[in-house]
Amino acid sequence: MTFEAVTTFLRKIAPLMSLTKKELELLSTPKKVLQSELDVNGKKYSAYHVQFNDARGPFKGGIRYHPDVDLDEVTSLAFWMALKTAVADIPFGGGKGGVTVNPKELSSHEIEGLSRQFVRAFHEHLGPTKDIPAPDVYTTPQIMAWMLDEFEKITGEHAPGMITGKPLELGGSLVRDIATALGGVYVLEEAIKKIGLEEKTVAVQGFGNAGMNMAKLLFEKGFKILAVSDSQGGIFDSNGLDITELIRVKKETGSVVNYSGTKITNKELLVTGCSILIPSALSGVITTENASAVKAKIILELANGPTTSSADDILHKNNVLVLPDILSNSGGVTVSYFEWIQNMYGYYWDEETVKKRLKEKMVTAFSGIWNMYSQNEHDFRTNTYIVAIRKILTAEKLRGMV
Ligand code: GLU
Repeated sequence: MTFEAVTTFLRKIAPLMSLTKKELELLSTPKKVLQSELDVNGKKYSAYHVQFNDARGPFKGGIRYHPDVDLDEVTSLAFWMALKTAVADIPFGGGKGGVTVNPKELSSHEIEGLSRQFVRAFHEHLGPTKDIPAPDVYTTPQIMAWMLDEFEKITGEHAPGMITGKPLELGGSLVRDIATALGGVYVLEEAIKKIGLEEKTVAVQGFGNAGMNMAKLLFEKGFKILAVSDSQGGIFDSNGLDITELIRVKKETGSVVNYSGTKITNKELLVTGCSILIPSALSGVITTENASAVKAKIILELANGPTTSSADDILHKNNVLVLPDILSNSGGVTVSYFEWIQNMYGYYWDEETVKKRLKEKMVTAFSGIWNMYSQNEHDFRTNTYIVAIRKILTAEKLRGMV
């Protein structure tokens, strides 16, 4: 989503919160924008690192490798990270990194070179109490390991808390691999209880880390997964898909479309007859063109920015509960926070402890926003933004910035 669209939404809710001009400006301006050109075998790749806001703690957010990455997108994503850490109530700010590259076209050795260069370009601005990156679209625990190694080579000391989403052997946390999806499950379960949803049929767009784990966790809990998709297309079965089998097919053939079932397009998946829709891929997929055709009662946004602002208004009018990205996918950064705590203490938690603490965080965040939502006429996203913005501005006020 463009940063212009992001700030338009901010301006829309500013009167509801009586934001001053100065506050609005502070919220719409990144603190630092860093850019570099990375070189792999003579080929150049643009790299960005945006530090949006650190009033509540060190900048935090993932690094994305994708051909569509540009400064505008990284800025929007960095802004959302600042809101996300506030909603999750963890002591971090928001930042984001990105490289304009299709990693599928690079060898593992080239990806390693690119990742080490990223750290060499921005290392002065990174560190466990400054700015803590993590995985995002197409970046993996192995990439985090290379980045950590490069950082430690430069600084000459061990600093596992400079990056999260690492492999367990280098100080990663249990549950971090499924945390985005699991956090989403906890939010969804609470929302289902609140609105008394009985039919539990699901469509999941995207079969990367978030989408695949979401489909798997819900399948194991007995939800009927009617449709899933990846970048090559989707698959539908009114009797429910066998997600264990689907994961095998995806791993073996590279796409869910090779599973036996009715083929559908990504567009069709969004308007499929189901009670829960989970966009887990890219941004801007639910728009004014398809919003009124959405049949789901709940949209759980696991992707960042899948719904446009005008689509939101249509969905709200049609009584569709949209659980926004900055809440629904905050399980990832929440377990990143747990990983960072464990690194700083050098003391590691068991799986049960991580899951219990993640659930506490997600349920508390959801319940606080639900209480507000049930007492006013604004949609759930607006209420979520109000909670996040209040927290950021309180910290800025205490620092004397506004
Ligand atoms: N990239 C993830 C996100 O957008 C995780 C960020 C993190 O763990 O810092 O929330």
